[in-house]
Amino acid sequence: MKYIFITGGVVSSLGKGLACASLGALLEHRGLKVIAQKFDPYLNVDPGTMSPYQHGEVYVLDDGAETDLDLGHYERFTNSKLSRLNSLSSGQVFESVIKKERKGDYLGATVQYIPHVTDEIKSRLYEVTEKMSADVLLTEIGGTVGDIEGHIFLEALRQFSLEVSPENTCFIHVTLLPFIRAAGEMKTKPTQQSVAKLREIGIVPDIIVCRTEVEIEETERQKIAMFCNVAAKNVVSFRDVKTTIYECPLDLREDKLDRLVCEALGLETPTPDLSDWEDFVRRIIHPKAHVRIGVVGKYIGLQDAYKSIYEAFTHAGAHHECRVEVVRLDAAEIEKEGAEKHLHGLHGVLIPGGFGERGIEGKVLTAAYAREHRIPFLGICLGMQVASIEFARNACGLTGANSTEFENKPKHAVISLLEEQEQVIDLGASMRLGAYDTRIAPNTLASQLYGKETITERHRHRYEFNGAYRKQLEAEGLVISGTGPDTGLVEIIEIPNLPFFIAVQYHPEFLSKPNRPHPLFAGFVAAAMEAAEKSPAAVPGS
Ligand code: GLN
Repeated sequence: MKYIFITGGVVSSLGKGLACASLGALLEHRGLKVIAQKFDPYLNVDPGTMSPYQHGEVYVLDDGAETDLDLGHYERFTNSKLSRLNSLSSGQVFESVIKKERKGDYLGATVQYIPHVTDEIKSRLYEVTEKMSADVLLTEIGGTVGDIEGHIFLEALRQFSLEVSPENTCFIHVTLLPFIRAAGEMKTKPTQQSVAKLREIGIVPDIIVCRTEVEIEETERQKIAMFCNVAAKNVVSFRDVKTTIYECPLDLREDKLDRLVCEALGLETPTPDLSDWEDFVRRIIHPKAHVRIGVVGKYIGLQDAYKSIYEAFTHAGAHHECRVEVVRLDAAEIEKEGAEKHLHGLHGVLIPGGFGERGIEGKVLTAAYAREHRIPFLGICLGMQVASIEFARNACGLTGANSTEFENKPKHAVISLLEEQEQVIDLGASMRLGAYDTRIAPNTLASQLYGKETITERHRHRYEFNGAYRKQLEAEGLVISGTGPDTGLVEIIEIPNLPFFIAVQYHPEFLSKPNRPHPLFAGFVAAAMEAAEKSPAAVPGS
């Protein structure tokens, strides 16, 4: 296996994750089998317990690992199926070292950062090498070079590179080239200093990827090359993308990042044919239709809180050559001001996953408005629970229906905990997590969309549709179109005789990909397009 390590310098939020995912896509197009993974130096065991304000979305893998949203980029941009082995944090490293120490595994040694912690980090690289087959393993290191907590990871990589031989490793450092407008100058000093910091640790980058607003002039390129000890051609520019993040691989290809990496690693591969990717990007950039879809959530101001959902809309929109304009709506505002003001004129409404009581009644109002006004509706996880509560209250007359998440003993606990969840005390990794099967009932919207009897989707939730209310809701027209074959749990609900009303207990957004839109999102966008055709005036400017 060949190893690529991606570090970041100068500032965070440089798009290191996107650079890593884009490089993965380029290498795959060269015929290589690729795995991308992330090492995060923070002390949480995983991001599952972090607030979306801290961390954005928690991305869930098939095996139930709760991971950084960058793993979402890796899975979307490449064909790799990742597992919990591909996400390592300092929390996991120390948890394991301390457990070993308590068991006496270190045979009386003083347990130290070097070699015990570095060995633990390296052991993950060896484990992935052994258990997952690939030609290239890309590892992104979270944080910025110079952070105290990241230091030990870099030391481990330095050791690892020597152990597997430097010809088999390629270090890529992603930095920022700030442009000082007043002086009209691009500044290379922060990059020089951050590379110097890496070299202090003993790592000399092979390639420097520079995030930049403007083109890098040849003189600047030479300067970076000289100060940072790399060839000028190995200074790659990573421009701010214009329309979509899916342009990133095309941008990085212009400076031949994939070729430089292959050269550094001694890999002989053909020039990649990216026409499928180019076609996908063209469909995003030049849409022929336009819909406006409301996403009614709690963390609506945050760019990253519903990342995979926004990406799934991009994939479905590209499929239909339709621009999906996401209108982000705060559920708490809808609760205060009513649904009409915020939802009128939208071509579709989505309620995403979420936790906690704030804004719940706004979401119930949203589901009611969509049902009554025949607006295409997709509910995801909490969105499905809310749609069930709304239907119970307003279609079945079960006043006081609620989830036990929001009310201790509601009159009708339509959503409640399974007995096994009632015993759970720890918050971390204790939900129903990861891939579970769903059996789909024939002649339903779900079966029409999926075209399959059994599907597998990823879960992340604690509460469930309470089976005791199933008959009552069905009697009023709710269709339970998907259930767990082993668990009997309700996975999909829909309301027939509406243009499109479906809600799912799982997270379909985690499985949507470029050129392979998720069937629920593809169907939802198609329904929104039909709604837009009927009320084109609702689209500003069209
Ligand atoms: N809070 C709900 C639960 O725990 C929904 C979770 C979610 O939407 N991811 O079941």
